Amino acid sequence: MAREVRVRFAPSPTGPLHIGGVRTALYNYLFARHHGGKMILRIEDTDSQRFVEGAEAYIIESLKWCGIEIDEGVGVGGPHAPYRQSERREIYLKYARQLVDAGWAYYAFDTSEELDALRHEAEAEGRTFAYNSTVREKLPTSLSLPASEVEARIARGDVWVIRFKMPENEVVKMHDLIRGDVEVNTSTLDDKVLYKSADALPTYHLANIVDDHLMEISHVIRGEEWLPSLPLHYLLYRAFGWEDTRPEFAHLPLLLKPTGGGKLSKRDGDKMGFPVFPLYWVSPTGETAHGYREDGYFPEAFINMLALLGWNPGTEQEIFSMDELIDAFSLDRVSKSGARFQPDKAKWFNAQYMHRKSDAELAVLYQPILREHGIEVDDEVAGHVAGIMKERAVFIGDLWDLTSYFFIAPSVYEEKQLKKYWRGENPAHLAELRAVLASIDDFSKENTERIVHAWIEEKGYPMGQIMNSLRLALVGAGKGPGMYDVTAFLGKEETLRRIDALISGVAPVE
Ligand code: GLU
Repeated sequence: MAREVRVRFAPSPTGPLHIGGVRTALYNYLFARHHGGKMILRIEDTDSQRFVEGAEAYIIESLKWCGIEIDEGVGVGGPHAPYRQSERREIYLKYARQLVDAGWAYYAFDTSEELDALRHEAEAEGRTFAYNSTVREKLPTSLSLPASEVEARIARGDVWVIRFKMPENEVVKMHDLIRGDVEVNTSTLDDKVLYKSADALPTYHLANIVDDHLMEISHVIRGEEWLPSLPLHYLLYRAFGWEDTRPEFAHLPLLLKPTGGGKLSKRDGDKMGFPVFPLYWVSPTGETAHGYREDGYFPEAFINMLALLGWNPGTEQEIFSMDELIDAFSLDRVSKSGARFQPDKAKWFNAQYMHRKSDAELAVLYQPILREHGIEVDDEVAGHVAGIMKERAVFIGDLWDLTSYFFIAPSVYEEKQLKKYWRGENPAHLAELRAVLASIDDFSKENTERIVHAWIEEKGYPMGQIMNSLRLALVGAGKGPGMYDVTAFLGKEETLRRIDALISGVAPVE
């Protein structure tokens, strides 16, 4: 029977979740849902030095905003609870000791002074220092000290760590679902620390492998920065005797700077004016960072954009709902090379989602902004106005500038437009047009348009001039939708009032 798909997103709460991390979570989620499997959220908080208050809550809220659902994990619970590694601390020592007993790991008692001395010695000889088979027996370790001494040191509370005993000169053959077969010679690897007595905590490597095993993870989908750890992880599975249930691995390509060179960083975002975090963030020390949510992006657009940074559907389709992504997603179509982030494309996606929103959806999003400006209208009106202008907006926040004149009569008139359309015959023509409009009973868009056009044609007046001076009166500027959308919305009374205000309030330009 095929194994149940169980994947995990395993962030460390060291700060706000980078959009690269959100993409890792997303690909895990899409993979899990595509295969009818489970998505697990595990918080890897064993590095107390790098722990940042508020980061875990930020991660959870980000996933929620993105619509990435967690089946098991922190905040949800599940059969393998707890899912926060700091709450599992008593589990790990047993496993670390098991490796020592089996000869795969050893206790090391060296001090930082001893290590520094060796490092200097190596540097003096032009070598780079590595903690490996060349030094492990020269230092005070359970490989160099008698067993009684090791026991005595532990019993009296000396500080120790457990290190993995990396085999010498062995080729580890690995398989990555994105990169294919990978081989590494163990002589290039060092003896990583697995457990530290100082804080009674495991390191990432031990906790990660033990938990993936205990939580029955079938596939590990994570960032490419973890690929160098893969040989150690393979060897840990072997050392524990868990090779039969070792998960499959997929290492995702990096998200690159817009210029292509190097990993996308917060600095790039600050410089070019786009967020690299899903939500606004305030660090415990008061530093802040922009977020997609607060900058006005729709979560669907954000997710759609991220999905296509490193994966492609093999077709021209660009707009995908979450369900469509789940359907189409496969690791085969994740690329090996880094994906360049394009700020303009993020905006393009948002605009696409804006254009697809119904008036009713727009009303809900636009009402808070209208209220902020003191405009009280019902949802139908808010949605109608937003719907007329949505094609020109990228963000909901753009709508106010695009539609404010629907609600507020102009009090100033754009200089440039006045110079063009409030001179010569314009005032007289507008006065005539006012009379025509005053005679119309049915002020619907179609009827007004028909009557006004017939009048302009009959008179042989310049259509552009007339419509633009009408626009000046109603909008106060050279922007806005078709004029009859505006007249129909304002109604006869308000339309005439605004025309009168221009005629009586602003002297024509000489
Ligand atoms: N805690 C690691 C991180 O922060 C998880 C790496 C993994 O998925 O194995 O990225």
